[in-house]
Amino acid sequence: MMARGSRVAWSILERLGRFDGGSNPPYPIFMRKADAARIYAALLERYPDARERPETVARGTPFEVLVLTILSAQTTDKAVLKVKPSLFSKYPTPEKLSKAKVADVEKIIHSLGYYHAKAKNIIAASQTLLDEFGGNVPGTMDELLTIPGVGRKTANIVMYHALGKNEGIAVDTHVRRLAQRIGFSDTDNVEVIERDLMAVFPRNEWGDLTDVFIAHGRATCDAKKPLCTECVIKGMCRWYRDNRALI
Ligand code: SF4
Repeated sequence: MMARGSRVAWSILERLGRFDGGSNPPYPIFMRKADAARIYAALLERYPDARERPETVARGTPFEVLVLTILSAQTTDKAVLKVKPSLFSKYPTPEKLSKAKVADVEKIIHSLGYYHAKAKNIIAASQTLLDEFGGNVPGTMDELLTIPGVGRKTANIVMYHALGKNEGIAVDTHVRRLAQRIGFSDTDNVEVIERDLMAVFPRNEWGDLTDVFIAHGRATCDAKKPLCTECVIKGMCRWYRDNRALI
């Protein structure tokens, strides 16, 4: 049976949004801000160009970033950038894309996977921009989340890279894996992971944190074969601490 002190602690965690109340157990994750700062500094030193990724969907007009980020679900930015020229030469504005036929858009984006749903989403998103926001990409998180195909990850990317606002942290597959391994979070719920990261990183780093974690995830902290012995943050990583005897 859980002791009264523990129950109180879990209750506090729940109120703080650090326990999702679902199948994941409550967890006493208290990564200190000072540790987060050391980890971020070490990763920035290791990947000085992480924030300048050449192959990213997060460059262009707000409309382009919105559409490309919707298309990037379950695929790579590189694959999306391949269809970018043909898509926007035919449909350069929300007006044009909102009037497109689904089958015509599918022909352009069929290499991306889930292309039927994605084609419908970017057409519907364009229609929403016209109907609700005067043809512009809206500037608040709440408004962005009303657009078809847009979840918090997409909204965070658009907010930071297209509109210059640090409202949250885009949690993609790399960010989720690193947050769990390093010890920032202990849940699969990406919204809780985002809140855990926001609690220890200063707001002015939120937008870039995703790119820095992506760089580390690609170069070192691979999903199947993390190169822990070469990792610049292994001394601060929970996964390394717990598994180093097996490495
Ligand atoms: S020590 Fe290993 S698991 Fe931890 S961040 Fe580095 S590569 Fe990833």
